[in-house]
Amino acid sequence: TTAETTFPLSFTHHPSSAARAEAEREIILADPGFGKHFTDHMVQIDWDIETGWHDARVTPYGPLMLDPAASVLHYAQEIFEGLKAYRHADGSIYTFRPEKNAERLQRSARRLALPELGVDDFVESIKQLIAADGQWVPDAPETSLYLRPFMIANESFLGVRSAQKVGYYVIASPAGAYFTGGVKPVSIWLSTEYSRAGKGGTGAAKCGGNYASSLLPQAEAYENGCAQVLFLDSEEGKYVDELGGMNVFFVYKDGTLVTPALTGSILEGITRDSIIQLAKDRGHTVEERRFSLEEWKRDSEAGEIVEVFACGTAAVVTPIAQLKTPDFTIGDAEAPAGELTMAIRQELTDIQYGRLPDRHGWLT
Ligand code: PMP
Repeated sequence: TTAETTFPLSFTHHPSSAARAEAEREIILADPGFGKHFTDHMVQIDWDIETGWHDARVTPYGPLMLDPAASVLHYAQEIFEGLKAYRHADGSIYTFRPEKNAERLQRSARRLALPELGVDDFVESIKQLIAADGQWVPDAPETSLYLRPFMIANESFLGVRSAQKVGYYVIASPAGAYFTGGVKPVSIWLSTEYSRAGKGGTGAAKCGGNYASSLLPQAEAYENGCAQVLFLDSEEGKYVDELGGMNVFFVYKDGTLVTPALTGSILEGITRDSIIQLAKDRGHTVEERRFSLEEWKRDSEAGEIVEVFACGTAAVVTPIAQLKTPDFTIGDAEAPAGELTMAIRQELTDIQYGRLPDRHGWLT
């Protein structure tokens, strides 16, 4: 579905006349929360089947005009990404492995029959938005500017086929520290009734539909006092896949880390990939393999599994104290955060915030 594209795209700028005053920005940045305030600008790039990608621009942040027949509103032909920009002590701003997000967006695009945006154009779109809205990157510890690139089918056509008109956008939202008052281990809930992804489905793509279908089991997790929902594979209902929005790792007594393999039903997390590298650098063995709920229960009760954690861009690394299911519980809700869990969390955030050398060339 990729038409010829002028490459690289050049961006035009339409500065916002309604840029908020510094005082208002400072109030928001003092307590940004997550995903509720947005910066002054956004990126837009258009695609159509005749001309490919064109008209890359930075415009004032504002509502989109969509025809009610736009196919995204009916058939959910939509994909997105999530990454952060971090402010370093000298004031400079870095993103973390943005080319990985670009590649994942391309894989998602293939699965959702959307056009692929070039990796360089994706990274440039991020740079352009930060160039316009850099003042929106907060500087308090563990804060960041969350970047949300997304792509939608916006052809006005109700036939069920891939859209011939598409829009790519990037918006940005300042994010506060995920854990205020220290990292707190969480309980998670096993969804036994619902699954997230089937064989040949869209589990490995970052498409909105995956998240729509996770909301009901996520609500069930909240009702049971849990922070996130855990999904098993849908074919056999035996193997750990991932959480609603994070990947998961198990730490064994002998220092081995186990994480579910990329079988096509889980999202290939960039935090997951980075942690595999950092753990190997520390001399740990990392196994990417199928891992059953039964193994988790057995090895946990035997004291072989000593730490469990979840990881993703939003919270970086979250210790998992306990898994609750309708039938049994693994672990103890009051269990403290694991030592390796916290060491890896520290190392990763130290790299992201420029407190440690960027030895893998992860920062842009
Ligand atoms: N799994 C799912 C379902 C997610 O939504 C996310 C967040 N993007 C992750 C895993 C973690 O991915 P990443 O480390 O790239 O944020």
